[in-house]
Amino acid sequence: MNSWPSIYLPPLESNFKLPALSLFNTASSSIEALPQKDIYRMYVCGITPYDATHLGHAATYITFDLINRYLRATGAQVLFVQNITDIDDPLFERAKRDSVDWSILARSQIDLFRGDMVNLHVIPPQNYIGVVEAMPLIIDAISMIKENAPTYFVGEDLYFDVRSDTEFGKRSHLSSQEMQSIFAQRGGDPERIGKKNPLDALLWLHHREGEPHWSSPFGEGRPGWHIECTAIALHYLKADPASDYSIDIQGGGSDLIFPHHEMSASQSHAINGREFARSYVHAGMIGLDGEKMSKSKGNLLFVSKMVSDGINPMAIRLALMSQHYASDRMWEQGLLNDANSLLQSLTIALSREEVPPTKPVIDEIISALANNLDTPRALTALKQWATDANKGGYGGEAGELARAIDLLLGISI
Ligand code: ZN
Repeated sequence: MNSWPSIYLPPLESNFKLPALSLFNTASSSIEALPQKDIYRMYVCGITPYDATHLGHAATYITFDLINRYLRATGAQVLFVQNITDIDDPLFERAKRDSVDWSILARSQIDLFRGDMVNLHVIPPQNYIGVVEAMPLIIDAISMIKENAPTYFVGEDLYFDVRSDTEFGKRSHLSSQEMQSIFAQRGGDPERIGKKNPLDALLWLHHREGEPHWSSPFGEGRPGWHIECTAIALHYLKADPASDYSIDIQGGGSDLIFPHHEMSASQSHAINGREFARSYVHAGMIGLDGEKMSKSKGNLLFVSKMVSDGINPMAIRLALMSQHYASDRMWEQGLLNDANSLLQSLTIALSREEVPPTKPVIDEIISALANNLDTPRALTALKQWATDANKGGYGGEAGELARAIDLLLGISI
């Protein structure tokens, strides 16, 4: 699948020192500094293309874009891979409801998603991979699990025995009862008769009437959701042989902590014996007007619609960064109004001939981002600088600050 066009990243002057990036790791429930490396491997779970980018997606992808930008600003290379779940029940259900071919629906939503990512200044992944195109390597991954770990059929559907991973459940910190209940809410089948453990993960689903299907050593059918990410991540990110982990960062929204990231990690462990990710990083959920934003409530706000209504995508990005990425938070018009006034104030300030010193505010932005992406603190500093600049002052370099906020925050004025 084609990724979206790359984005120009301005250089940062060499007199800025970037400390190690600290991030909250869901698996250890603590903020940990990433080790300084030349190459980082980051996998961020992508959309199921039955709807394009709503504000929750935008908040998640902007979060991992900030990580990508920070690590690149340190001089490191970031290998970034993202999937597209272009084979999944919700996609088939939506296609059936709307009487459209599932693959045409998927293509149209993927196109919208790419456009949204460009508008939001999200750096594209080097590999943007759909399930359909990854089918051979997904089938290989399932074969490897079958060789290394207990699997079994229920009817003609193949399952992975999650208890073979002694770490199962330790990344998400849920009781067995909580896991079962969340699993059922998020597309799992804990109550299916014949399963050895209610939480066992579906690897391969036998062909169902009216659905696409592929030939495999496990029969005609299609893969389960979790194995697609395991297979795509391990194949395209090729683990560093010297590392105890397959990749550095597994990312996504907090609704993926369980079952998706737990099960993907267990399957990956069954394949190569290593812990999947060094850090499991999760973005909080975005609500609207006091309610959770969800497709079932019909209160999703789509980025493409907002942009076509004339909203500046930079204001959307700024508004989503004005609260902390890890918190569940509400979207409201006030955030957008504040973002627009900050953009306006910055635009005026950065066009002045003389501006107050810029190095301290850039240092503050770097320090805030290094501390678990504290964007509210970074934006407060930026707002204060713009207010001061518009009152006068000299000794700074507007171009240096404009380049730094473009590189580190993805805000281009
Ligand atoms: Zn995934």
